[in-house]
Amino acid sequence: MTIRNGKFQINTRGFTDIIDITQKVKNEAYKHNLKDALVHVYVAGSTASITAIEYEPGLVKDLPEALDRIAPMNANYHHDETWHDGNGHAHVRAAIIGNSFSVPIVEGALQLGTWQQIVLIDFDNKPRVRNVTVQVLD
Ligand code: ZN
Repeated sequence: MTIRNGKFQINTRGFTDIIDITQKVKNEAYKHNLKDALVHVYVAGSTASITAIEYEPGLVKDLPEALDRIAPMNANYHHDETWHDGNGHAHVRAAIIGNSFSVPIVEGALQLGTWQQIVLIDFDNKPRVRNVTVQVLD
C-alpha cells in the first residue's frame, strides 16, 4: 500500500461555520491519477469536524439548528468549568460529527453523490485556521 499525504489550510469564522471543501479535496485526490484508491480527509483539533452534506442554503441552516437542540451553545458544560473558554458545546458537537471522512476513487472517479459535498465545520467560538490532511491510499 502506498500513502500519499496532501494538506491545505482553511480560515473559518467559527460558530458552526460550514465550509464546502470538495474542490480542495478533489485537487489533492486527483493529483496522482489513480484508478482505484481511498481518500481520507481529516481535520486536526477537538472543536472542528469533517463530514458530507448536501451543501445548499436550507441544509446549511438545518444542521446548525439540529446541533443547537443537541448541544446548545448557552447550556452549562463541565468543560467550561475546567478551562473557562466557553466552547463546551463545540467539543461536544465535534465529537458527535467526527474528525474525518473517507471516500473511494473507483475507475478514476471520486464516488461522491451529485448532491453530496465534503464540508469542514468549525464549532469553536472564535475564528480559526484549520489544517486539513488528505491521505490518498492505494
Ligand atoms: Zn475548550
